[in-house]
Formats: sequence, structure tokens, C-alpha cells
Amino acid sequence: MITIIGTILIVIVTAGIGFLVDRKWAVIYRKKQLATGSGLALPGHAAGEAPATALEVTAFALEALRRKNCDACRGETDALADDTVTFDGRDLLVVHARCRRCNRGRSTYVFVRN
Ligand SMILES: [Zn+2]
Repeated sequence: MITIIGTILIVIVTAGIGFLVDRKWAVIYRKKQLATGSGLALPGHAAGEAPATALEVTAFALEALRRKNCDACRGETDALADDTVTFDGRDLLVVHARCRRCNRGRSTYVFVRN
């Protein structure tokens, strides 16, 4: 019996600490934040890594992106054939490159500004 009461007390105290921490620092997303998407960062996708985070680039910046060195080892890359995708009503270009040194592939989603 004392084990059950002890367990319940530990759970209540832990949940209480969690609520206090969340009230002070807002750790858990609020319903309003989730509905509007304001203040939310997409986890795991840096700029250009996914259609939702596509980079807006000029034609000049696009050429610089094709020649950009490897993110992992800084080695030179070979530009591969581009793909096109439509996301959220916009036509995006997917720029592919492969590192000559470590063979790491890179795909960058871009929206080319005219
Ligand atoms: Zn590399």
C-alpha cells in the first residue's frame, strides 16, 4: 500500500514540477501556436533542406550554390541534374551535387527569383 501511495505522490510531484517549468518557460507548444504555426521552427530541416524551407535565390546565387563545396569535408562537388517539384503552389528547383572527395550527396530546394 505504501508503495502505491509513494508512486502516486512521485507522479504528482513530477507532473507539478513539469507544469511549473512549462508555465515559466513555455516548453510545450500551445494550441494557438500549433494552429497558426507562429513561433514554430521546423525541427530537423535547415534552410533549403526541404520544400517547406526552400531558399529564394537569384540566378547568380543559384550558380554559386551549384559550385558550393561539400558541407561535410569542404571538398569540391560535381553538380548533378536538377529536379523540379511543385510545393505549396510554387515551382521549386532541386539542385543536386555530389562531393568528389567523400561522395556525400546534397539536395537543396530553391525558388529562383526573376
Ligand atoms: Zn565531402
